[in-house]
Amino acid sequence: MTDSQHSLQRTLPLFVIGGQPGIEHKSLDRSPDNWLLQRDITVHDLPYIQLLVRTAYVQWLSDIPAHVQSQLGETALFDYRGECLESDLPPTGSKEPSLLSSLVNSVLSERRTQRHIIDDESGYIGVPIVSRHSKLVAAVIVFHTKLAVSDQGQLAVEGWMTQLHSSFYREFEHMFINEIYYSQRLAERESKRRDILYDVVRHIHDHIDVDSVISQIIEGIEKLVPEAKLEVYLSQDHRSENPNVKALIFKSWSDPLVMQAFMNGEACYAETPDSGLEVAVALTGKQGSYGVLKMIFYDERPDPSDIQLIQLIIETAGTAFENARLHEQANAVIQELRFINDLTKRINQSLRLRDVFHDATHELLRVFRADFCMLLQLSEDKSRFEVVSSNMVEYNGATLPSESGLFGYMFSLREPVIVSDSQEQIQDRMQFFEQLNLRSVIASPLFGGGEMVGIVVVADKRPHFFTYDNFKLLQMLAGHIGLAIANATLHARVKHLANKDQLTGLYARHYLDKQINRQQKNDFCGSLIVVDIDYFKQINDTHGHQIGDKILNQVSEIIRSSIREADIAARWGGEELAVYLPQLNVNQTVRVAERIRARVANETSPQVTVSCGIAEWNWQDEKISVESLFYRADMALYDAKNCGRNQIRISASS
Ligand code: GH3
Ligand code: MG
Ligand code: MG
Repeated sequence: MTDSQHSLQRTLPLFVIGGQPGIEHKSLDRSPDNWLLQRDITVHDLPYIQLLVRTAYVQWLSDIPAHVQSQLGETALFDYRGECLESDLPPTGSKEPSLLSSLVNSVLSERRTQRHIIDDESGYIGVPIVSRHSKLVAAVIVFHTKLAVSDQGQLAVEGWMTQLHSSFYREFEHMFINEIYYSQRLAERESKRRDILYDVVRHIHDHIDVDSVISQIIEGIEKLVPEAKLEVYLSQDHRSENPNVKALIFKSWSDPLVMQAFMNGEACYAETPDSGLEVAVALTGKQGSYGVLKMIFYDERPDPSDIQLIQLIIETAGTAFENARLHEQANAVIQELRFINDLTKRINQSLRLRDVFHDATHELLRVFRADFCMLLQLSEDKSRFEVVSSNMVEYNGATLPSESGLFGYMFSLREPVIVSDSQEQIQDRMQFFEQLNLRSVIASPLFGGGEMVGIVVVADKRPHFFTYDNFKLLQMLAGHIGLAIANATLHARVKHLANKDQLTGLYARHYLDKQINRQQKNDFCGSLIVVDIDYFKQINDTHGHQIGDKILNQVSEIIRSSIREADIAARWGGEELAVYLPQLNVNQTVRVAERIRARVANETSPQVTVSCGIAEWNWQDEKISVESLFYRADMALYDAKNCGRNQIRISASS
């Protein structure tokens, strides 16, 4: 066995076992004698092994003991073309350059050691490093030594050269095995990446909800580039529970790299100040961009092929994301229709305005799962909004001006509003919401019969809470709420009209009956005045019915302006009018009746007078009823007529 084989057997296990675990390849199972020793340099390797030759040469020189070195003399290294690579030969005379090159050339052509003796004391020996099998000369070492003068000297030099030979092959085999190891690593890495890619793509398409698709993308990319920090920016329409997901916001302070990637729809790169690398890749489908994936590499730079692979994943993810989104959108439309159906059903069930407000608030909170909901009604003079319903009951009944703040803004523009973060909006408009610590707001005006009648507001403490779809849905629901309010208002108006007498504008008799009946159940006492115009038939006969009607109206107006707000004046029938005065006893009532009587006598034109009959009830009465009260008042009136008219009489039993 040669020296080189010895050294190979000694060093090879280092490469296989100690050096690089996991490289055991089937072809490496064979004995190194039979396999590795077959490896050799070829003529094609020559240009590429200069570094290897030089390394082996330098190593060999440093390994030679000093006393041997002094015998070996100065040395120089020449490559396979005869070019000098290293030399510590003494400066040569004018003859010696050609001497040296002819020595080296003859070694290269003869492929064996050549000598040139200068004198008894010194000479040159040129020794080739020859490849194992093909006998290629990889390099030539030239010695300037006194050993050149004898054959024994040459043998000694050649002896030391075998060590260089082994050192060279050791480097060669090291390089060879490293290469195998490297390509195997590459192959393994490729196959691992293919597995990840396959896995991610399969999983991405397994999911039909946006959030799971996003989680799959993040998981897959984390496996590919575990050293990177990942951030996913999604446009506001896509909410996600994933902690790595942030909202994509177009503001001056937004990340420019993310914005750039989103706008261009391609991968963008930027160096970080601490010499890291940021890569942003847009998440795009066929219909548009949905967000951006950002990776930050602090220490290790990413392999460009990894970025390509990530781009491939993101491309696939874009389509999957789009599909999931379409699926979710279809569901959302169904859900929206359900919400609209529920809300309209519920608010239309009630014709009472207060119930409509309350039910709408309740439904809106359910639909948007938000912290706060409020309905505001515009006052008749349009100067302010009143909170008619809210889940924060302390605000119910509160009024807000219609010329300032967010509601003033909406009133002037008659437009809906979406606020992503109240802290970033114009301060004075958002005061109301800041006080409540509400950062996201959607609000829509309410229209009834073409007029703005109020505002519906939904808000949440979290910024960027509402999506654009939420905003659109609220506008749709606002339309229905406005309609329900208009219906309920109309209903109330019709009801009100039905309770009124058309000619006089006073209440109708049935309304008065109902009110007295109701109040007799709760109150302690009350009085009724029945008013009848004296000789009214004559008025009609003299002036005509139209003037008669005018008089009737004058008397009605006098009555209306002579009583309190709580008193109820009604047309009881024909030219007979009646006033019910809750909680008043007969003495107080007489004063009111007297005022009416006197004013009628003084203020009517043509002048008429009235007679009044008064009856009173209180809780101690044996029989309390509307009928008996009227009956007694009517009796008193009859009395007044009999006694000469233009006077007041009180029921005997009062
Ligand atoms: P007195 O009450 O003083 O006994 O005499 P009177 O002439 O007013 O008699 P009475 O109350 O019985 O007559 C009611 C008259 O009022 C009959 C009718 O011509 C008139 N009248 C009733 N309703 C209206 C009405 O809506 N408009 C007009 N112009 N006249 C009416
Ligand atoms: Mg009369
Ligand atoms: Mg009458």
